Amino acid sequence: MLQQIKPDIYQFNIPLRNNPLRSLNAYIIKGEESLMIDSGFDTDENMDIVLAALKELKIAPESLRLFLTHLHSDHTGLASRLEDIGVQVYMGRVDAAILEESLLEESPYWKELEVDALMQGLEEDQLRISDHPGYVYRPKLMPSIRLTDDGDEFRAGAYRFIVKEFPGHTPGLQALYEPEHGFLFSGDHILETITPNITYWGENFGDALGKYLVNLKKVKEMPLTQVFSSHRQLPIDHLQRIEEIEEHHAHRLGEAIDILTKNGRSTVRDVTRRLHWDIRARDWNDFPKSQKWFAAGEAHAHLVHLTKLGKVKQSKEDGVLWYEIV
Ligand SMILES: [Zn+2]
Repeated sequence: MLQQIKPDIYQFNIPLRNNPLRSLNAYIIKGEESLMIDSGFDTDENMDIVLAALKELKIAPESLRLFLTHLHSDHTGLASRLEDIGVQVYMGRVDAAILEESLLEESPYWKELEVDALMQGLEEDQLRISDHPGYVYRPKLMPSIRLTDDGDEFRAGAYRFIVKEFPGHTPGLQALYEPEHGFLFSGDHILETITPNITYWGENFGDALGKYLVNLKKVKEMPLTQVFSSHRQLPIDHLQRIEEIEEHHAHRLGEAIDILTKNGRSTVRDVTRRLHWDIRARDWNDFPKSQKWFAAGEAHAHLVHLTKLGKVKQSKEDGVLWYEIV
C-alpha cells in the first residue's frame, strides 16, 4: 500500500467510496518534521488508513504537518480528526475562508448556490442544496488552520517546498513546488485521464476557467521532472497532459458557441442540456439532481469565459442570466 516513490517521499491510496474519483493519492514526506499532503474523506476507514501509514513510517502525529491543497472534502475531510491527535494543519487563505463558511447549514455560501441555480435558469429542476454532494459531505468541524500564501516555504527531509497558488479548480488551490528536484505536488490542478472540474464560483471569483487556463500555462513554464497529482495515475508527460486539458476546454467552448449560434439567446440551463456529457442518462430530465448541479456549474464557467473573451454577451432578466453570440 505504502510506496516509497522518491527518497523520503511516500505515496499511499485512500479509497473514496461512492465517488467517481475512486481514490486519493496521499503523500508523506518524511523528515524531522514530516509533511503530509491532503487527507481523504471524514470516515473511520480513511482515518484508519492514515494512522496505519503513520505507524508504518514511525511518524508521531505531533511531528506531522498536514498541508491541504484545496477545500474539497476528499482532500480536507480528515483535517479535524488529525488535528485532534496533534497534527498541525496548513491551508491556503482563500480556500480556508470558503471552507469555514461552508460548514454551517445556514451559511450564505449555500444560499448563494441556490441563488446561482436560479440565475442559471434551473428553477424548474427544483434543485435543493440538500441534493448537492458538496453540502451532504461537507466537513462538520473546522480545524484551526495555519494559513499559507503564495511563496511560503515548507522544509521536510532533504526538500524545500514553495507554495504556488493556482486558482481555477477552486478559488485558492495551492500546489507545492520543489525547485531543486523539479517536483510539483499539484492537487487537482493537473490530473491524468480525468479532466479537473472547473465550475462557476460566483460573481466575486469571476472567470474561473480563464484563471485556470492562465495557471495551466504557468506550470508549462516551470522546469519540472515530475507532477504528483491527487487522483489516478501520475502524469507521464505533464506537458502533453496540459495540452490535452487545454484542447478539452477549447472543444467545450466551441460546443457552447455552436449551441448559442444554432439556438439563439439561451440560459445556462439551455446550454447545459445541449452540451455532450459522458453520463448514463437518456436526456436532461434523466440526470440525477447532483449531476445537474455539476453540469450547470461547468457550463456556466465556460459561458462566463466566452463573455470575458468578448465572444458572448450576458444579460440578466428577473434574476436569470441570458447568453447570446455577440
Ligand atoms: Zn478537487
